[in-house]
Amino acid sequence: MPNFAAGVVRFQNEVYPQKKALFEKLSLGQSPEALFITCSDSRIETAMITQTDPGELFICRNAGNIVPPHTNHTGAMTASIEFAVAALQVPHIVVCGHTECGAMKGAMNPEGLDELPHVREWLSYVEAAVEIVKETGAGKSEEERMQLLLEQNVILQLQHLRTHPKVAARLAKGDLRLHGWIYDIKTGEVNAYDEVQEKFLPVSEHYASEMARLATSEGCAA
Ligand SMILES: [Zn+2]
Repeated sequence: MPNFAAGVVRFQNEVYPQKKALFEKLSLGQSPEALFITCSDSRIETAMITQTDPGELFICRNAGNIVPPHTNHTGAMTASIEFAVAALQVPHIVVCGHTECGAMKGAMNPEGLDELPHVREWLSYVEAAVEIVKETGAGKSEEERMQLLLEQNVILQLQHLRTHPKVAARLAKGDLRLHGWIYDIKTGEVNAYDEVQEKFLPVSEHYASEMARLATSEGCAA
């Protein structure tokens, strides 16, 4: 029996009974706080990183946390984004890259992808980020260039998001917020892109003022 199948039995016997009320409520509908776009990499556990329950994140995963720019071609990402933004009305979209990303390594070294034609084509959506790294990464170490690519890829995919009509409309209306994150598999750190400072800052720092406001309002409520 595979480990993941044994897990289902454990879930049904041990976990489900504890959260029965939540699951019954979720059967009536969903109202997620965010569309969360991240890599398919098995080392990313979205619920654990964000400490969220089922129903809180509408998740789209693919190799490289890529958002193809909007075209007339219908793809899985296009349809999922449209549904999350226009039907579910999520107030936030997160694009979350991560360290040790195989897709980003492939984008940096496409000559190694001859036997993976679909991967190579998919990674063409990262090309502008790769070009930025080539242009600005001269003299940097391999590790620094990879970090730069992780960051530039997240920024690029946020730009692609803005080309999707329903996203553009909600941004114009002012009730949708975009977030660019990078998760460090080894340290558990999550850094968020700060558009004002034009760099990635630890989540605790980037959201510091909002966390302080939240603490104050909770204090008032109590
Ligand atoms: Zn990855």
